[in-house]
Amino acid sequence: MQPTRLNQAGRARPTRPWAHAGWITAERVPFARVLLARIPLARIPLALGLAAASLSSCQPADPTPPAVDAVVVVVVDTLRADALGAYGAAEAVTPTMDALAEEGTLFERCLATSSWTWPSTASLLTGKLPPEHGLIGKDGSSISPDVPSVAAAFQSAGWATAAFVANPIMDAELGFGRGFDVWEGTDDSWDHAAIPLERAKAWLAERQPGEAFFLYVHLVEPHSPYRPSADSVAALGLSTPPTDEDLGAVTRAYNLMIKGAPYDEAAIDDFVDWRRRCYAAEVRDADLAIGDLLEALRRRGPMDRTLLALTSDHGEEFLEHGLMGHGGQLYPESVHVPLILTGPGIAAGARIPERVENRLLGPTLLGLAGVQRPQGLAAANLTDGEERGLRLDEPSLLHLGNGGWIEGGEYLIPDEQQGMAADGVVTVRARVKGGERAASHRAFDAASPPEAAAPKDVDQVASEFSKLRRPSNTAPLSEELERKLRGLGYNLGRQEPR
Ligand SMILES: [Zn+2]
Repeated sequence: MQPTRLNQAGRARPTRPWAHAGWITAERVPFARVLLARIPLARIPLALGLAAASLSSCQPADPTPPAVDAVVVVVVDTLRADALGAYGAAEAVTPTMDALAEEGTLFERCLATSSWTWPSTASLLTGKLPPEHGLIGKDGSSISPDVPSVAAAFQSAGWATAAFVANPIMDAELGFGRGFDVWEGTDDSWDHAAIPLERAKAWLAERQPGEAFFLYVHLVEPHSPYRPSADSVAALGLSTPPTDEDLGAVTRAYNLMIKGAPYDEAAIDDFVDWRRRCYAAEVRDADLAIGDLLEALRRRGPMDRTLLALTSDHGEEFLEHGLMGHGGQLYPESVHVPLILTGPGIAAGARIPERVENRLLGPTLLGLAGVQRPQGLAAANLTDGEERGLRLDEPSLLHLGNGGWIEGGEYLIPDEQQGMAADGVVTVRARVKGGERAASHRAFDAASPPEAAAPKDVDQVASEFSKLRRPSNTAPLSEELERKLRGLGYNLGRQEPR
């Protein structure tokens, strides 16, 4: 069934809305526009490596092939852990990702370091927390040049390195491309996965037998604006998108809701349900894209020396805590992400219950691949149970350069949000004009024991963050990049965000 969209005059428009970029953009949808002005849904459509000598270069020649000669990292942007069947989704649309979990090891409680793309993906690529790598999304910051890059470590060891990225705000100018022989991003649109996938497959086809490579693929589904494939629209039975009139009712209801006034609950519920189903349809598209990539990898031959990691940069909120989208808060729905590893040395069918951070994926992969870590990047091995146990003595830190905060019927914009996950609780400290706010909640609602709801000491959050080095690299973005970001609905350049 092709859904029908109504235009401003209320007439049926015979378009293919699901293939049409931007129809739920902030510019077109009143509810989204309200959120753009007030909350981070706006952000959604709006919302060195030091030279590391190869180990092989300082060891005698060994005729035995290396245990690992290919490392593939797939980041599915905006993927909540609970969107996967393997993480308990009731209506599973992820057979490929679920099969990977059965072949390898699944980390049940994995945290991203932030709740939006820039800081969190920079953490994945450097192993550092946002205040350490510098890309926090304010003052035109970028990844500090002296911060070690995981890709650069593979490159220095003689591995071919390439990244194919569908998220248009991940620009090489920000430091994301450091260490990649090939960095292919997208210019000014929220491309579908097919584009980076085709380029990634072409690059794979050019690799010589036995050539070691590090491949990074960043898919943009299920990030809004939602444009699920016709196949997924049919599979999910998606209904006709809401009319402008419907969205007007939702906007009015939402504004009343955050003030604590009586509101039209049905209007909100219907809209959130519809967005959830759009999201699920795009998760299904991401799953199909990963299947396509796996097929290309398997066509090259046995994958017995290929390490594969699947994770996300952040999740997505559906009004669980007053907001929609991401990049606003640090609740579990925004920072609890999947992490699945497969390959040599990775236990099949294992499920790891301990809290882990996906920023430690980089040093883990370097270690498993036998590639020397760059100076300044601490060792970590997420596959080592003893090490994971020791790390539980330390909190996991989360950071958001700005975001949003609803309190007492008011939407506040903090200068900074600092989060600390420990003992089943995330404690968040926000610096807001006029004072400091704090909140506390269970880190993993379903799994945390009831006593975990007790708040932690907010002073400890501040103390943990005071230990972190803050790079001074805040050179302004180029005018070209600022223009591109503004075109995508972001305002993150020389001006303060929002
Ligand atoms: Zn993202």
